[in-house]
Amino acid sequence: MKITFMGAARTVSGSCYILECGGKRFALDCGLHQGNKEIEKRNWNLDEYDGKDLDFILITHAHIDHSGLLPALVSKGFKNPIYCTAPTKDLLEIMLLDSAHIQEMEAEWANRKRMRTGVQPVRALYNINDAEKTVPLLATVYYDKVFEPAPGLTITYKNAGHILGSAFIEIEYEQDGKRTKAVFSGDLGRPEQLIVADPSDADCADYVFLESTYGNRNHPDEEHSLDELAEAIKYSYGNGEKVVIPAFAVERSQQIIYSLFLLRKQGRLPEDMPIYLDSPLAIRATEIFRKHPEFYDEQTQEFIRKGEHPLDLPNLHFTETRDQSQAINETKGPAVIISASGMANAGRIKHHLRHNLWRPGASVIFVGWQGVGTPGRKIIGGAKKIRLFGEEVSIAAKIFTINGFSGHAGQDELLDWLGSMKGKPVKVILVHGEAEVQKEFGALITEKYGFEVHIPEYMEELELEPGLELAPVIDMAVARPRVDWDFLLRDSETLYAELKQRVADVENRPWVDQADLRDKLLDVNRNLVELISEM
Ligand SMILES: [Zn+2]
Ligand SMILES: [Zn+2]
Repeated sequence: MKITFMGAARTVSGSCYILECGGKRFALDCGLHQGNKEIEKRNWNLDEYDGKDLDFILITHAHIDHSGLLPALVSKGFKNPIYCTAPTKDLLEIMLLDSAHIQEMEAEWANRKRMRTGVQPVRALYNINDAEKTVPLLATVYYDKVFEPAPGLTITYKNAGHILGSAFIEIEYEQDGKRTKAVFSGDLGRPEQLIVADPSDADCADYVFLESTYGNRNHPDEEHSLDELAEAIKYSYGNGEKVVIPAFAVERSQQIIYSLFLLRKQGRLPEDMPIYLDSPLAIRATEIFRKHPEFYDEQTQEFIRKGEHPLDLPNLHFTETRDQSQAINETKGPAVIISASGMANAGRIKHHLRHNLWRPGASVIFVGWQGVGTPGRKIIGGAKKIRLFGEEVSIAAKIFTINGFSGHAGQDELLDWLGSMKGKPVKVILVHGEAEVQKEFGALITEKYGFEVHIPEYMEELELEPGLELAPVIDMAVARPRVDWDFLLRDSETLYAELKQRVADVENRPWVDQADLRDKLLDVNRNLVELISEM
């Protein structure tokens, strides 16, 4: 079995592994790369995925960092089955369309800028049509039911307890009497997590591809998170102000509603405090959550048996339209506003922050991981002011950060999950984490269980065969860097336009020596010719 790491290697986003065995070539996850410019360029490296040649794709769960490149592969000719669980299928339908919409908007925004400088327009990474063409390819699989997409190759999805319908995947391949078993953790949830059932145990395997988002720390418990939430509500309610909660549309928004339901039962949520779920995507996701109660944990099922649904609250309002959304801040008085995006870098949440951040007595609660450079990160970092819609907004609201809502297993939980394999010759490959965290976590795994640990690089290839040393097929340190011609071409167009503009600015100015200007341009030209002749 051969594996190529197409993403989530020494970073968190872009989960995608391409596997080859028994004449089949398939992908496990197909996530969007998100982060700095360098990382996001990887989204355009579509030829490397060779989508047309993939026999099928296995998707662990609906999050965009595991699924967001599917429409891009479909636009490049992929038309085979995409296996996932029933809730993942439902969630992907709304999330891929939403992602396509974002891609189109971003391209449109970039093109407006490019047109002003006379540079050729860019196309979107994919469009709504590509997302629509992806949906019919989604094929449902069930937890704990083995299926065999090719002779000798068996695949089992098991509950990862991370979001509704999330799975970790066991892959077993047998050839010439030799068996190789690999487990891909996907994103692993926590036993304490609200709504979804606890993660299942994994069978022992030769290789475990383990996520390591929180490999270096543990989360506070649920009670602590509820207390903090109650504190923020009490503070702003007492001041007649609003509580603003930036939250991801899927899972986190529903967890917050669930938490408010629990607070209400304990008498810690004022009866007259309205709650708004102000995100069309989160509203649709909540409907999907309600459609699949069989994926809930025991506590939730128990509430439902008693006739109480934790996603129902008497004061909960779904604000679908823009007018409804704007009306929230036009109404004076306390309220809880749950809106996306979770890092406050896009979506309606930015409006709510503009209206409330500067208000003493208001509060903002961050309930998820905040990426470097996002407004969310700046606010929790103690910024006094923040730029929103081109204007400076000062921060007078009280800022809360609640880490206990994480949908990712913390260090101890990851170690516990691995624990059942103790004493076996397991090789652990750490993925979906920052390199520094992985180094620390990897050392801990080896110390505790004696497992060999490997931290792969982007585009690294590995041969998986029990007994074989975990040495990369290509040494990435000496591997030739790949040139992204699409980008180079676009960069050169921008450079050309800039150069033209600069020449136009100084041409015909009496103080510019025209001969000198020509010489300088000839120098630029000579450099280019030299570059070409070296190739
Ligand atoms: Zn996830
Ligand atoms: Zn993830």
